[in-house]
Amino acid sequence: MQRVYNFAAGPSALPLPVLEQVQKELLNWNGMGASVLEISHRSRQFTSVVEETIAMIKSLYQISDDYEVLFIQGGGHTQFAMVPLNLCAGQCGAYALNGVWSRKAFKEAQKIAQAKEATSVELRVPRQDEIDVSGASYFYYCSNETVNGIQYHYTPDVGIDMVCDMSSEFMSRPIDVNRYGLIFAGAQKNFGPAGVSIVIVRKDLLDKASSTVPSMLDYKTYAGSLSMYNTPPTFAIYVAHLVAKWLIDEGGVAEMERRSIIKSNLLYDIIDSSNGFYFNQVEKQSRSRMNVVFNLENKALEERFIQEAEAENLRYLKGHRILGGMRASIYNAVSIEAVEKLAEFMKKFATRYA
Ligand SMILES: *Cc1c(COP(=O)(O)O)cnc(C)c1O
Repeated sequence: MQRVYNFAAGPSALPLPVLEQVQKELLNWNGMGASVLEISHRSRQFTSVVEETIAMIKSLYQISDDYEVLFIQGGGHTQFAMVPLNLCAGQCGAYALNGVWSRKAFKEAQKIAQAKEATSVELRVPRQDEIDVSGASYFYYCSNETVNGIQYHYTPDVGIDMVCDMSSEFMSRPIDVNRYGLIFAGAQKNFGPAGVSIVIVRKDLLDKASSTVPSMLDYKTYAGSLSMYNTPPTFAIYVAHLVAKWLIDEGGVAEMERRSIIKSNLLYDIIDSSNGFYFNQVEKQSRSRMNVVFNLENKALEERFIQEAEAENLRYLKGHRILGGMRASIYNAVSIEAVEKLAEFMKKFATRYA
């Protein structure tokens, strides 16, 4: 069986060695004579997986003991609610709006508290001097807008706690966690299967939630229990554990950044040198290295582009339903070779139909 070149936006490609290990040890995990799917989350073997995953995340991002690493279900959308539920005692956050996910998070926060708009821009990230956080308890932004293909290439400096949705760029480059109050990421983009989100939160923020916040929506509940107040998504955490190991073996986040620069440049170079056959409307300094969004000048050719790409095993390139066009998601598990194949195809296609 041949595996396809997978450019899906999420759930998305996982490293092949990880999938192979899952397959190999599925029936008899860790010598237990049972699958990891079938054992207690409170077993010593499984609690070790949780502890090791936390330790690996801490080592990959060099996270100090001032922070907790939590595993929570409900995806990015649940974080859109948990952030204001936990951090809006009195004042609430100011949100930078520049794409689908930051806008959705803002809307959700407004249902819960008096969230404000810090800035609103299109097709780019805001500049530092466009961000207004006056009267806010935290500044919220989405570092990589997965649908729009827009990414921050600087860390804002706003003088108050920052909360960042890093779902689609988690572990793709080095970051300074100390600059943040809270970071969250759904695993299914760049760190594992759907079903678990990783939350990195500074410990002093854990006490801000009021006592009326339901236990399952209170970060404290997870921090005090190794994220096992109730049954955690054990299989998703187990796969994330293998992904973290793979990341360390491959050279960590600096190496992932090096590769993602190579991969994204391969595609943007073709788009930019195609004389408008392909185009990308995002401001150049704000282009995403994870989700390369593009259109064809001749819209009628887009369907053909998808079909011919599929015939070459280049899959899931259709853009998000609200934007149309094309999107190549080139997360950590997408090899340079896969992106070279896509680049080659794009060149050939442009020559044929220009
Ligand atoms: C996919 C995504 C989300 C939504 O995640 P769910 O797990 O589907 O709730 C939120 N933010 C970003 C940046 C995403 O890419």
